[in-house]
Amino acid sequence: MPDSLPELEAQRSKILRQFSTLSDFRLGSICAVPRRCGKPTCHCAKSNDPGHHPQLRLTRKVDGRTVAESFASPAAFRKAKTEIDEYHRLQNLTMQLVAVNEKICRLRPVESESSPWTAEEKKRLRRSIRRSREK
Ligand SMILES: [Zn+2]
Repeated sequence: MPDSLPELEAQRSKILRQFSTLSDFRLGSICAVPRRCGKPTCHCAKSNDPGHHPQLRLTRKVDGRTVAESFASPAAFRKAKTEIDEYHRLQNLTMQLVAVNEKICRLRPVESESSPWTAEEKKRLRRSIRRSREK
């Protein structure tokens, strides 16, 4: 685990470079949905039946609702899977970037050892915090 500021900054640059290697990505997940044909006499009509060969669906949230799409072809499935995997790579890179930045923030010294807060500065700070809360 690198813990010096220059090492952490180098690590951050490395992570940032990886962002530029991201290709098309999208939100969503792929799940296998058991298919029921709807014929009342079929075995799949029984509640404990696993149904017919499960169908792969792409599910995603649209305005808070889950929308499912089926894939027109194996190629469409592979394309969507690659795009979703790429989104997970983005999430992973984001988490890494946040983690390394937090370490950098903690290690980065205050620019100059200045004098403690003056009464006027404290008053101004309180006012600006109050203003940002009111928004
Ligand atoms: Zn059936």
